[in-house]
Amino acid sequence: MSFEYYYITVVSLVIFIVALVIAIIMNSRYYKVIREYLVQARGAEAKGQAMSGEVEVLACPRCGYSTTIPFRVGDYVGKVVGETCPKDGERLVVVAIYSLRPTEYQGS
Ligand SMILES: [Zn+2]
Repeated sequence: MSFEYYYITVVSLVIFIVALVIAIIMNSRYYKVIREYLVQARGAEAKGQAMSGEVEVLACPRCGYSTTIPFRVGDYVGKVVGETCPKDGERLVVVAIYSLRPTEYQGS
């Protein structure tokens, strides 16, 4: 074995490992992007659902952030829910529950 052959082997091995590490890093990044996209798609779906029924407004008591989600059975105004504020991580509180179709309840 000549030194040159050994050198080329080591260099190609290092390049292979670096490429592998870059591939793993890129994969996890893509995975994150894909996961964020899926979460957003699910959120949009939930908003679509909310447009046709009862919704509840969740608000952050610390910074005032608020979001609207479809109503879930068992939730009530003042309840501290599992969701957290994306800005400061504070637990969100149900501040309002209402229906987008008030006519649904008339005459029943
Ligand atoms: Zn907040």
